[in-house]
Amino acid sequence: MTEKSEWAVPRLSDKVAADLWLPGEILDVRARAREFADDVLRPAAHGLNCTAETREGFRHDIFKAIAAAGLYKVPYGLDVGGLGLEFPVLATLTVMEELAYYSPGVASAMFDGQAILVGKTLDIAGGATREKWLPGIVRGDYVAAFATSEPEASTDLSIASLKTVAEPADGGWRINGRKRWITNSVAAERVLLLCRTGDAMTTFFVDMKDPGVTVSDPDLKMGNHPQLTADIRFDGVFVADQDVIGGVGAGLRTALGGLALGRMGIGAAGVGMAQRALDVAAAYSSQRLVYGRPIAAFQHWQFRFAEHALAIETARSLYQKAGTNFDRGGPSEPLAAMSKIKGSEIAVDVARDAIQACGGYGFAREIKGAEWLWPLESIYRDAKIGEIYEGANEVQKWLIARHLLGRSITG
Ligand SMILES: Cc1cc2nc3c(=O)[nH]c(=O)nc-3n(C[C@H](O)[C@H](O)[C@H](O)COP(=O)(O)OP(=O)(O)OC[C@H]3O[C@@H](n4cnc5c(N)ncnc54)[C@H](O)[C@@H]3O)c2cc1C
Repeated sequence: MTEKSEWAVPRLSDKVAADLWLPGEILDVRARAREFADDVLRPAAHGLNCTAETREGFRHDIFKAIAAAGLYKVPYGLDVGGLGLEFPVLATLTVMEELAYYSPGVASAMFDGQAILVGKTLDIAGGATREKWLPGIVRGDYVAAFATSEPEASTDLSIASLKTVAEPADGGWRINGRKRWITNSVAAERVLLLCRTGDAMTTFFVDMKDPGVTVSDPDLKMGNHPQLTADIRFDGVFVADQDVIGGVGAGLRTALGGLALGRMGIGAAGVGMAQRALDVAAAYSSQRLVYGRPIAAFQHWQFRFAEHALAIETARSLYQKAGTNFDRGGPSEPLAAMSKIKGSEIAVDVARDAIQACGGYGFAREIKGAEWLWPLESIYRDAKIGEIYEGANEVQKWLIARHLLGRSITG
């Protein structure tokens, strides 16, 4: 592996009062997460983002470093070993932005998947499973996965579509089925699993070492390479009653609660990616000369960068508002859907334009004779999935319209 690092450039978000309304505790979390990202993720980013997926490829070193930096404490209360913040979700989203600035795949797998989808679902569900399993997530003792999607059911998680079934057995449940795209599954010790139980759905916290659980090799994807996804098969797997999360029949509500916060996280990750792309493009085009002038001296690029800074700030404000509203006891929707759409769209738009401004340097991930590694190629690849996963953006627009117009019209 090369010893070169990705280019360090000034953060333009510092020039637009991006955190103006944020409480002091969030500024502290931002500073801590940024220090971690600069020190640990930037030097590792190229290897993380540009190495194809393998079964052994889960980066336990990065996972442990996130835990050692105390970042898994951010989302939770003091009683389970967390920081006990007044605005835990807002703080969690701030960490997502900082991690995604250098590695969207790490942010998505090791923070959104681990700490939001699994950790916050356990947190919100409460009860004995929260007390038993959440402190281990907070300490970073074990890797976990969240599984709702199946080969024939992802966007549509209706009873009619879901094929993974749990049937009552002596002292618990017997599970058969197959999940697809499950982040962290190759390394996970536990999976939070949505199953059909009769004419309702139930969520279980299943031990991945149980007989009958098998994980395929990881999928080979366009981007987010450190986010290892794979199929998990369940062949007659027994789960005890005590590992039901959130109550029998309450599975869909339990899973959707975590997914709504996850969607805010995808919005925040989009902001991080877009910010990194803009920062690199602005720094490069301010020093690269064409026709005797910096590229940034052409008004075309000044307007483009101004438009992107405006879009990024809008998306950042949206995820901050979504997190703050939830922390104050408000509903997650429609702000979660709005922040997911805006953040994921700008990540793709800004990355595409940043590559254009940097020309061949934008298109390459490594130029052998150059001092730095180039991040724009991987940001462009990593950005696209944000418009698709954790609820495709079309479905998010439907959800917003439902809030505006009512179910009787939108269905
Ligand atoms: C990298 C990655 C990580 C993932 N991690 C996980 C994980 O950890 N756990 C998990 O359970 N799942 C995970 N997923 C699954 C992911 O959430 C699904 O891929 C996503 O929900 C889309 O499902 P699908 O690919 O089956 O697309 P489909 O459901 O088949 O949808 C395809 C397309 O149809 C369109 N569409 C769908 N519904 C509508 C509508 N109502 N109106 C208009 N258009 C519509 C959208 O454009 C959508 O993109 C992951 C996927 C990826 C790629």
